[in-house]
Amino acid sequence: MTDYGINVVTQFKPINRKNIHKIPQWELLNPEMRRALLVVSAVLPFRTNRYVIDELIDWGNVPDDPIFQLVFPQRGMLERVDFEIVAGLMEKGAPEAEIADKACRIRRRMNPHPSGQMEHNVPHLDGHRLPGMQHKYRETVLFFAAQAQTCHSYCTFCFRWAQFVGDRELKFESSSADDLTAYLERHTEVTDLLFTGGDPMVMSAEVLERYVEPLLHPRLEHVQTIRIGTKAVSYWPQRFVSDRDADDLLRLFERVVDSGRHLAVMAHYCHPAELSTPVARRALRRIRSTGAEVRIQSPLVRHVNDDPDVWAETWRTGVRLGAIPYYMFVERDTGPKNYFEVPLAEAWEIYQQASQQVSGLGRSARGPVMSALTGKVRLAGVTSIEGMKVFVLEYLQARDPDWVHRPFFAEFDHEATWFDQLRPVYDNEDVYFQMPGDDEGELFECEEESEIFS
Ligand SMILES: *Cc1c(COP(=O)(O)O)cnc(C)c1O
Ligand code: SF4
Repeated sequence: MTDYGINVVTQFKPINRKNIHKIPQWELLNPEMRRALLVVSAVLPFRTNRYVIDELIDWGNVPDDPIFQLVFPQRGMLERVDFEIVAGLMEKGAPEAEIADKACRIRRRMNPHPSGQMEHNVPHLDGHRLPGMQHKYRETVLFFAAQAQTCHSYCTFCFRWAQFVGDRELKFESSSADDLTAYLERHTEVTDLLFTGGDPMVMSAEVLERYVEPLLHPRLEHVQTIRIGTKAVSYWPQRFVSDRDADDLLRLFERVVDSGRHLAVMAHYCHPAELSTPVARRALRRIRSTGAEVRIQSPLVRHVNDDPDVWAETWRTGVRLGAIPYYMFVERDTGPKNYFEVPLAEAWEIYQQASQQVSGLGRSARGPVMSALTGKVRLAGVTSIEGMKVFVLEYLQARDPDWVHRPFFAEFDHEATWFDQLRPVYDNEDVYFQMPGDDEGELFECEEESEIFS
């Protein structure tokens, strides 16, 4: 392989819109694709690396290749008028600031914090808010470490880009291990702590240790499970194999397990290609050798994995390699949603047809699931009652714990892509559809632009 000053084995160097033309595969893109990439990436973050480019993408299958769709900006991600305006500005050589301002205006229309996550679930300690934490369901607290607010590569559908692009108002992060442990000490009902981001696996072992080690104290005996949500297993498996501190990271995992706790690596695999390389398999084996469990949770995304065979293969491969299928998520109502969304009726077909193809061990993924304001809602199926076609729904997580696993109904709708578009069949089930007030206001100003867009 040609050396571009990037050592893909031991070091992570991002590829972005500034240096993308230096990779040999640039020549494989036709002029329309290159133009689309440069225009769309002026609006939406684009960042990837040589491992993804060289080993996960099949360049003979571009632009349809699923990993190419997953990380490379595509024309259809912007509305036609927006695309033409940004392209026009770039092509007439408009000042960077003008392009950046237009880009920001387009981005702010793409709802950056769906499901009221940021407004509704921030916990408090002694009267002050704890940003960077979420406590929505009794047993589980989510923690967004400040050092974890980026990823080894960016997914094109990602709704968290507001976290990465320097919109300070929208940043949602914490750097306080003390707040975390103090909060958990008071909340003995919490059994699970989930590190999320961004990607917690962009943190060095040393930084991660600062957050994890205090959790192993006997005072926090009630915190039985530590989960780490990560895409590094796919985008940078070297993190667990050959990075400078890969071994330190695994030793930390071992200490969690030795403390008598469950360590769950929530691996965001959405295509079997991500599980196909030797280094990806090695990473899985090394993680599992620490006693940690790996579970697969992934979104259903148009152009990437909107195919039952792809899901069946992901689950089958996962089971073989020791990664347990856990969730199939419906993509949220955000970002370039028209490009990526899959109607709920189709999502259920995909889930049902994929499930048929695998043994019981591969059927452990629950889906299709929407993380809505009211809770995690699963579309359990499509059926008829009294001659009327309906969706059968159930809560997997709910604000009111008693709602869990109680079937309820919505009118069938072949176009609906999200829970808030569904209508109850029975009046007495209205309550399941009622969203707490969503006080979305002016979300952010267009003055902050990070290095990603400069
Ligand atoms: C999914 C989710 C959890 C974890 O739910 P489990 O059913 O335990 O996987 C916790 N908090 C939030 C906000 C979630 O969306
Ligand atoms: S790995 Fe997750 S947080 Fe990171 S870019 Fe992809 S979807 Fe977003």
